[in-house]
Amino acid sequence: MHDFDLFVIGGGSGGVRCARMAASHGARVGIAEERHWGGTCVNVGCVPKKLMVQAAEYGAWAQDAAGFGWCGLEGTHDWNALITAKNKEIERLNGIYVKLLQGSGVKLFEARATFIDPHTLQVGDRALSADRIVIATGGAPIWPTIPGTELGIVSDNAFFLPSLPRRVVLVGGGYIAVEFAGIFRGLGAEVDLLYRQKLPLRGFDEAMREALAEALTAQGVRLHPSVLLDRLEDIGGVRRLHLSDGRQFDAETVFFALGRDPNTAGLGLDKAAVAVAPNGAVIVDAAHATSQPHIFAIGDVSNKLNLTPVAIAEGHALADRLFAPAHPRDWSFSPVPTAVFSVPPLATCGLTEAQAALRGPADIYEVRFTPMRHIMSGRCRKTFMKLIVDQASQRVVGAHMLGDDAAEMMQAIGVAMTAGATKQDFDRTIGIHPTGAEEWVTLRTRTRTVGVQAAA
Ligand SMILES: Cc1cc2nc3c(=O)[nH]c(=O)nc-3n(C[C@H](O)[C@H](O)[C@H](O)COP(=O)(O)OP(=O)(O)OC[C@H]3O[C@@H](n4cnc5c(N)ncnc54)[C@H](O)[C@@H]3O)c2cc1C
Repeated sequence: MHDFDLFVIGGGSGGVRCARMAASHGARVGIAEERHWGGTCVNVGCVPKKLMVQAAEYGAWAQDAAGFGWCGLEGTHDWNALITAKNKEIERLNGIYVKLLQGSGVKLFEARATFIDPHTLQVGDRALSADRIVIATGGAPIWPTIPGTELGIVSDNAFFLPSLPRRVVLVGGGYIAVEFAGIFRGLGAEVDLLYRQKLPLRGFDEAMREALAEALTAQGVRLHPSVLLDRLEDIGGVRRLHLSDGRQFDAETVFFALGRDPNTAGLGLDKAAVAVAPNGAVIVDAAHATSQPHIFAIGDVSNKLNLTPVAIAEGHALADRLFAPAHPRDWSFSPVPTAVFSVPPLATCGLTEAQAALRGPADIYEVRFTPMRHIMSGRCRKTFMKLIVDQASQRVVGAHMLGDDAAEMMQAIGVAMTAGATKQDFDRTIGIHPTGAEEWVTLRTRTRTVGVQAAA
């Protein structure tokens, strides 16, 4: 008899849901968290990031209000007040996570857990055994291997800076880099965004990437594509970043947003004979089992779709499969709607145009317009929407949007696409007027067809 039926390593999005659901199905469950309950999303990810994006938006809104007759709304921003309010909200959420776990009968350990053998974990100063073990240790920011790297910061630090830097150099072209560019710029900092590719957001629809680059420029973010880092140094308190082509950038803060690696270092996976990929990701099958059938991995540590709702769904589904197999909850992992909280936000669901073209003929419907709000505000902020329709089945296989409320709209588009909606379903849906969203159901004229060669 082991100490627990299930032990979860990591109290983040995936681990907490898995532990709670397993306990609610009657299992004896323990969970260890070494840093902060709620994990990355609640403490140094989605939640504080979104609060800071919202903080940054108010500045622009105050300026825009003049176009609607409001006078004198523009003021100054108090960074300390924002960080204090944000920290208070995060503390509240931490407490909710602990209550939820305790309320469902999970035993909590505020300690690091590492493997001693395939069924035994060192949890703080105790050895605990479990019939089944779930690895839900998430990921960690990647630091560049250049001289002076320690003079920079990563996203974990960015939420706790003592003051708003006047000038920030952001290195990276992924969603975290783009989002923080919007945050710092919106709060009044000068921002240089440096990335290796020609455009930010590799893997996203090409036209959306181009539109995002234009939007960042319109916001005042200076873009520097195709860079390679050389070294970072401190020049009397100023950070100087040298590129391999000799260019240099001075800033108060150099922020590396170069992606995240699965968090498996020092976990003792070798002692449990759990196989990992070269980047440290735990290798799992479709049922999230590792090379040890009683050890599972969920969320970012398995490095598939690194998103909070995916980690939660994986944790929930795993707990159901293990302890309530008669009533498993099922999720669709394709397509997965997702958003980048840039300025304005970019949201997407399904295939990019290039991916669709590889599969066969697809019709592209596009619309670009200035939203009603910005005709009045005078702000240069366009909306760009794109629908990709598989010609043979008429199913909508891709939806992409850059513009106000994109994330809010894409959730509903995701439902339609998961249900297999066709272009005709979109066409016969009555719009809500006057909204930007009604454009999704009034896209009558095909912009072009792609993928004809793929079918030949
Ligand atoms: C800046 C940023 C913004 C993001 N924004 C979004 C967003 O807008 N939307 C979205 O869907 N996703 C977003 N993400 C991604 C999201 O946060 C992750 O996909 C999600 O948190 C993954 O959940 P997880 O359970 O796999 O891991 P985590 O939430 O990272 O949890 C892992 C936990 O395990 C703990 N741990 C690690 N090792 C041990 C150990 N040995 N013993 C005990 N505890 C351990 C860690 O302390 C951590 O709390 C963002 C991430 C970042 C960094």
